[in-house]
Amino acid sequence: MADISLSSVGKTFAGAPALSDITTRFEDGEFIALLGPSGCGKTTLLRLLAGFEMPSAGQIGIGRRTMADAGSGAMVPPERRNIGFVFQSYALWPHMSVRRNIAYPLEIRRLARAQIAEQTEAALAATGLGAYAGRMPSELSGGQRQRVALARCLVSDPDAVLLDEPLANLDVALRASMQGVFTDFHRRTGATMVYVTHDQAEAMAMADRIAVLDRGTIQQFDTPQTLYERPRNRFVAEFVGRGTVVPVQAVEATDSAVHAQVLGARIAVQSGRNGGGIDHVCLRPENLTITETGDLRARVARVTYLGGKYLLETVADCGTRLLAETRAKFDVGAQLGLTITTPWAFSED
Ligand code: ATP
Repeated sequence: MADISLSSVGKTFAGAPALSDITTRFEDGEFIALLGPSGCGKTTLLRLLAGFEMPSAGQIGIGRRTMADAGSGAMVPPERRNIGFVFQSYALWPHMSVRRNIAYPLEIRRLARAQIAEQTEAALAATGLGAYAGRMPSELSGGQRQRVALARCLVSDPDAVLLDEPLANLDVALRASMQGVFTDFHRRTGATMVYVTHDQAEAMAMADRIAVLDRGTIQQFDTPQTLYERPRNRFVAEFVGRGTVVPVQAVEATDSAVHAQVLGARIAVQSGRNGGGIDHVCLRPENLTITETGDLRARVARVTYLGGKYLLETVADCGTRLLAETRAKFDVGAQLGLTITTPWAFSED
């Protein structure tokens, strides 16, 4: 079992907090993404799990073992955590062939030669690198190097794999295909995976659950669908998915429905609190329908073709920018009506 638990974990650098009071649990075999803007503490959290840093507060456990305890100062070093790492920079040995790079962790463990050969060939095959086994890292593309780094993880049979923006150096097409390589790897190994990214589409595509971080704290930890459909606060609503957060002017809650006054219109909203304490709604494109009359009048300010449909950036008469999607093409400057359908409502903080 390699579930990962963090209890009141904090990390400060020279008095400045990078992470504060993180208490959470990643289940055995889950694919977790740590998502957030630059400087929010993603890499610091990963480095604490790896054992490259000691927490300033709290405890970290992996499986049944306590890996770090700020109270006692005890810490298990990285090489004794049975964890694999994959970084943006690949960290391959430049003077070793692909096969040798993959075999190296087993050589260090002094396994029998036949066993090393067998496990190395299996890892080469699993990552589709068989044809490149004799090449040096300098003779590989970025995607191929990243697969070598993954194969090197696979060969060690780790309990958990930590990945720090591993696709950041690759072009868009290769990123998409490498996402498939990572999810296949996850299915095949059943390892707990913790994947750092600032790219929400990448996190949504791969992770079972996403921890959204901002300024050193977890804002929400949920499935991609829940984060998108039921964001807990403004930060999550704006960071995950497209949309506009607008204030609620008044709320009327009955046993069966919650209505809110939004941008001058009275609309039904969904919320987790039965209308109590809501003060904002998130208007995603799918909450807006283009109609003749509509709740609002708006003017098309920009049109982007998304493939099969268009994203319209509109400016409502009240001045708020709203995004809508349509199959029909509209020209910039066109006037339309927008009807709002049951957006998600929440409290700003
Ligand atoms: P990015 O996406 O830019 O890599 P991040 O979310 O991974 O950002 P971290 O690298 O974890 O962010 O940094 C969080 C905060 O801690 C930042 O303010 C950073 O400057 C600070 N920090 C990180 N490592 C150190 C260090 N070794 N010494 C001092 N401050 C640090």
